[in-house]
Amino acid sequence: MQRNPCFKQYSHDYLFVEIGKRVQAFEQTHPDANLISLGVGDTTEPLPSSIVDEIVKKARELGTREGYRGYPSSVGDRELREKIAECIYCNTISPDEIFISDGAKCDIGRFQWLFGKKTTMTVQDPSYPVYTATHFLSGKKKVYTLSCCPKNNFFPKIENFPRTDLIYLCSPNNPTGTVLTHDQLERIVTIAKRTKAFILFDAAYAAYIRDPALPQTIYEISGAKEVAIEVGSFSKLAGFSGVRLGWTVIPKTVCFDEGTWVGKDWTTIVTTFFNGVSHLSKAGGLAALTDEGRRATRAICDSYLANAALLRKTMEAIGYKCYGGVNAPYLWVDLNGGSSWEIFDNFLRRAHLITTPGVGFGKGGEGYLRLSAFGEKERILEASCRLQSVCSLRNS
Ligand code: PLP
Repeated sequence: MQRNPCFKQYSHDYLFVEIGKRVQAFEQTHPDANLISLGVGDTTEPLPSSIVDEIVKKARELGTREGYRGYPSSVGDRELREKIAECIYCNTISPDEIFISDGAKCDIGRFQWLFGKKTTMTVQDPSYPVYTATHFLSGKKKVYTLSCCPKNNFFPKIENFPRTDLIYLCSPNNPTGTVLTHDQLERIVTIAKRTKAFILFDAAYAAYIRDPALPQTIYEISGAKEVAIEVGSFSKLAGFSGVRLGWTVIPKTVCFDEGTWVGKDWTTIVTTFFNGVSHLSKAGGLAALTDEGRRATRAICDSYLANAALLRKTMEAIGYKCYGGVNAPYLWVDLNGGSSWEIFDNFLRRAHLITTPGVGFGKGGEGYLRLSAFGEKERILEASCRLQSVCSLRNS
């Protein structure tokens, strides 16, 4: 049996494998180092008790004859679809247009099945590596990149780029922590409509937007319901990265050229490749969207944003220009001409901090580091003290 050539061509796990190797090598020579990770984009705070109680209650119900349920619906139970429509989209999206899933990453992967092998895509550079990885792994070949950097306010003139079938956008952005404005999104929606492209809008970090002037969903943009598919997630909204729950929105007006609603084919994909989310995740999701759940999860997001503010203040105080970290849990640190891996090694060696080299998110990330603000407050405070005490690492 021949190996699928797509796997030979593309290795998207390179970044965290390489970080792991360097950290391991460092630990071997410094066994007593108390490393702090500002690298991984994963939540750290425990689930709020109101959510845990509902998950436990559902587990107990499943242990009774009356409460037992088998397979859930592949597209998601009505109750959760209605709750997401109400709480996330203020009922501007119909529950029928919302598909519940086991997470945004899984839907981003399944998304590729909607389109043939010749489909082309545009992606921001730097970007979450899963977009291009899933494109290549599904046998597609053409990817165009939009260089996003401080010079172009993290969004270039998309009008000047070649037309592609798909445009991937992530806002708030992983890794840069920047958020696309109404104006920027309007330009992209206009182009997508004119060129008959679809937008995949990844809103996994929408819960971190605090500035009311910024769009929390692409559907705030007029015309977006004709061209945009949005993925959402409970991972960073409610700490469900290990519980697994997300959703995809496909408005009834997003149709292929011959008129078929994309949601029709999406239903085929999810009923074929997926068997619905666990009843426990669903119970947790419903609890997260009650008033009590929303208050508790927002407070947790606020605590990560406070971490981000502290890290940003610290980095700026020691001479690094930073982006993001205000409406997002990530900071994008400009290394003033230093190389991503070199400064990564420096932070590891001198401050015992694990960061993420920006270049791991694409060519445009060279010269930057991503700092993640997920972490316990005490650890972030300690990280901040270490940064101040080693001061100008870039000159070492
Ligand atoms: N989208 C982005 C931009 C992410 O950074 C991540 C996770 O880090 C995901 C999606 C994955 O979300 P989920 O946990 O819902 O699969």
